[in-house]
Amino acid sequence: MRFRESVVIITGGSDGIGLATARAFLDEGARVALVSRSKAKLEKVKKELKNENRVLIFPADVSNSTMANKVVGLITETWGKVDILVNNAGITDNKLLLRMDEDTWDKLMDVNLKGVFNYSKAVIRPMIRQKHGVIINISSVVGIIGNTGQTAYSASKAGIIAFTKSLAKEVGSRNIRVVCVAPGFVMTKMTENLPEEIKNDYLSRIALKRFASPEEVARVVLFLASEDASYITGQTIIVDGGMI
Ligand code: NAD
Repeated sequence: MRFRESVVIITGGSDGIGLATARAFLDEGARVALVSRSKAKLEKVKKELKNENRVLIFPADVSNSTMANKVVGLITETWGKVDILVNNAGITDNKLLLRMDEDTWDKLMDVNLKGVFNYSKAVIRPMIRQKHGVIINISSVVGIIGNTGQTAYSASKAGIIAFTKSLAKEVGSRNIRVVCVAPGFVMTKMTENLPEEIKNDYLSRIALKRFASPEEVARVVLFLASEDASYITGQTIIVDGGMI
């Protein structure tokens, strides 16, 4: 039990990588606060989770900074601290730049990048006060290599990598680590509806010749949050089965 009594916040915690991460932390004794858009979905997920008594749910849009402060305030009031933040909420909307309107760009930046800013900003004071903390940001390999149809998504994910490096330098002296995970192709709602030809193209470029399960990403998140990674900060760990 590496995380007994640890308080973990996971944005986008009702699906995919976020939900697998929540399950893994709960299995290791943590108390987990899930932030996601849909109240109904969060309530359903909470009922299905083992250790429901160690779960809090917060329907909120991560792009809303007022809500971020409110949510983190409620969590610290209830559980007294926040040890780990996993900035996982994210969306895609694939379009060539020629066809991308300003609203799409703004929406992707607001959720994927500003969401990371909002929740990191909200936890940083409590983490400084308690003299420890770990922030784990979920980026993507396309933030490193780019991808057709994903100028906005990949720019937001590259932004997360740079944000991670800079914040790690700002708060390292306060015993707070900030790290990033860059998954390749993970089998979640985000990828399930991609056309077969695109999936096959990805597959041909993956050394392990299979897609990742959300649990395989979650295990890396838990490693980075744990004392085993106590000297890792500012880094981006690629979890892509050898794609890039
Ligand atoms: P998913 O669609 O299964 O889950 C995304 C979660 O984020 C959902 O719970 C959703 O409700 C939540 N969310 C979306 N917008 C939100 C908002 N505005 N406010 C609060 N919550 C919001 O996706 P996933 O594949 O599990 O993705 C998780 C993260 O991993 C994302 O940041 C994604 O960009 C990243 N990622 C995924 C893959 C992949 O192949 N699936 C690859 C690389 C990176």
